[in-house]
Formats: sequence, C-alpha cells, structure tokens
Amino acid sequence: MASERTFSIIKPDATKRNLTGAINQKIEAAGLRIIGQKRIRMSQTQAEGFYGVHKERPFFKSLVSFMTSGPVIVQVLQGDNAVLKYREVMGATDPAKANAGTIRKEFAESIEANSVHGSDSAENAKIEIEFFFKPEEIVD
Ligand code: GDP
Repeated sequence: MASERTFSIIKPDATKRNLTGAINQKIEAAGLRIIGQKRIRMSQTQAEGFYGVHKERPFFKSLVSFMTSGPVIVQVLQGDNAVLKYREVMGATDPAKANAGTIRKEFAESIEANSVHGSDSAENAKIEIEFFFKPEEIVD
C-alpha cells in the first residue's frame, strides 16, 4: 500500500485533560507522521458542516455542542495505509468496545467524548483535510 493521508481531530475532552502529547505519541509510534497540525476552536458552523452526515441523528446537537466546547487539534497524518491504520490506533467509536491499547480504550470518556476523530476513507480524508487546511499548512 502506497503512502496515503488521513485527517485527525484531537477532541475537546482530550485537549482539556492535556492528552495531546500522549495521543501524538501513539500516532507516531504506529508509524504515522504528523505533517500538519494546529490548535483551533471549532465554530458552530464548522462543526455542523463537518458532521453534516449525522444531522438527522438524535445525538447531532449534542455532538456539535461538544465539538465546540473547547479547543481541538486538527491534524494531517501521512503513512502507509494511513486511513485504516489510524482507525486501528483510534479503536471503536464506543470506548467500551475498543481494543486494549487503542487511544479510545485508554483515554475516551464516553461514546461522544471519545478523544479523537479519524477519516473513514481516503476520499473523505481529502475532503476533511481541505475543510480545515490550506495547502501551505501541510509540510511533508
Ligand atoms: P467515528 O467514525 O468512530 O468517529 O464514529 P461516527 O462517524 O459513527 O460518529 C461520529 C462521532 O459522533 C463519534 O466519534 C462520537 O463523537 C459521536 N457519536 C457517535 N455515536 C454516538 C452516540 O450514539 N451518541 C452520542 N452522544 N454521540 C455519538
């Protein structure tokens, strides 16, 4: 598998508990390189747009409120099979179902406050990266 890129967010529950470094350590230990990274406060419009696919779900309002509740770290990760590899490093959406050693098993507080986001396909990764990054902010 050739090198690919994925998009990551370290969510407000994790930045609040000073877990940025611990999460980055797991990302880098898995062989993924952080080639873009910035700390931002997501606006309501950004959060609603980013999670637009979930707008009919019962948890949508709560999710938008959570994602705008504190700073997040948006990241571009690069490496072999980066999309799938990062999904493995993250673990299942519900931390109770996540495998041992994954970010969500070790750090997540709940199914919503689950510490990280990672793209679910290369196509979505491209869209999500373009949503948050200018080309010159990514340096590989
Ligand atoms: P992911 O790809 O593993 O992040 O999961 P999804 O795309 O299904 O959901 C997006 C995000 O919505 C998750 O990471 C959670 O933060 C949140 N979420 C998912 N399912 C639930 C749920 O049942 N309840 C609540 N409150 N939030 C959820």
